Amino acid sequence: MTIEQIRVYRFPLPAQTTYNMSSSTVSLPQSTIVELIDTSGLKGYGEACLATSEAQSASNDSVLAAMSFLAPAIIGLDPTNFSNVTDAMDTFNHVLPEAKAALDVACWDLTGKKTNKSVVELLGGTLSDAVITYHVIGITSPEDAAEDAMRLQELGITRIQLKAGGRSIEEDIACIHAVASVLLEETSLDVDTNRGWTIAEALKVSEACSSISMSMEQPCATEEELRHLKPLIYHPLIIDESATDAATISKLIDDEIADGFGMKITRVGGLTPMKTIRDLCVEKSIPMSSDDAWGGDIIAAAGVALAATMPRNLNRGAWLAHPYHQVHYDLVNGPRVQNGQVPLPKGGPGLGLLIADGFFGKPEAIYE
Ligand SMILES: [Mg+2]
Repeated sequence: MTIEQIRVYRFPLPAQTTYNMSSSTVSLPQSTIVELIDTSGLKGYGEACLATSEAQSASNDSVLAAMSFLAPAIIGLDPTNFSNVTDAMDTFNHVLPEAKAALDVACWDLTGKKTNKSVVELLGGTLSDAVITYHVIGITSPEDAAEDAMRLQELGITRIQLKAGGRSIEEDIACIHAVASVLLEETSLDVDTNRGWTIAEALKVSEACSSISMSMEQPCATEEELRHLKPLIYHPLIIDESATDAATISKLIDDEIADGFGMKITRVGGLTPMKTIRDLCVEKSIPMSSDDAWGGDIIAAAGVALAATMPRNLNRGAWLAHPYHQVHYDLVNGPRVQNGQVPLPKGGPGLGLLIADGFFGKPEAIYE
């Protein structure tokens, strides 16, 4: 069984509610879908959705352009041999990890279908049938943020990520205090700035919120700034946008800079590198999340699959974009939040999704 054809689709994912982070708003995201077809006619799906310029640096056009190099390089390869596929893609050094990730995820889905196993099993087996998730409260007023936090907790959400940055830090501080004042004991709070503060601002926030139990996620833009900041703050430091690959992550752990990671599948190049990073985090007892900055059922299922293989105490959860979407690829099996958890998709082997033939319309490109 080898990869015979690769179809690449441009697929709009219109939002039904706006999502505000730091200094950008997500309204009309577009996803790049890849469909790998093997010599026996089985199909595997992958996805990369570039929708949040604060959290992602590539664009959908650049992902589509990268496919013109990457897709031909893996035609004829065995999709079950992940390291072979990775090596073939890595010969293009400067090609986007987001494009590699879409193809890598499709190989995992296809391998699951070929071997009649779920991607969860392929990644090492499930430790839970439902994965913990977290919910995001976007940039808004302290009153609205607190109201949102109460509503989410009533729905069973026990992990809240509050967005910050892109406005005066006095407003950020007021918002953090307002949300903290309504939190139940079992709810954890993570303040995610998506690179939005200077070192001085992050320090001021940590001081003003020193009595609040919370973590600070990617408060500043660069790894250098985070290294400078870490010994000066009162709160655990979660690294997201600067956690770009296994070598960087390993060093951030060894240097005691990171207390946890926000991991995005497309930023690191797919499930194959995510598995390496998961193993590293589990070995060192460092918590991580497993999801993506945006995207539909395919990337959501991939995030949930990896998260299901993590010990609960090290799992920071899998966030899903589906509540913001008008369109879903698999209405029955697509991962959905239920009582603060995400049950694993049950639509069959691979990622557990059943996607109707022709769902994504006319391919933007076909490689064979
Ligand atoms: Mg983040």
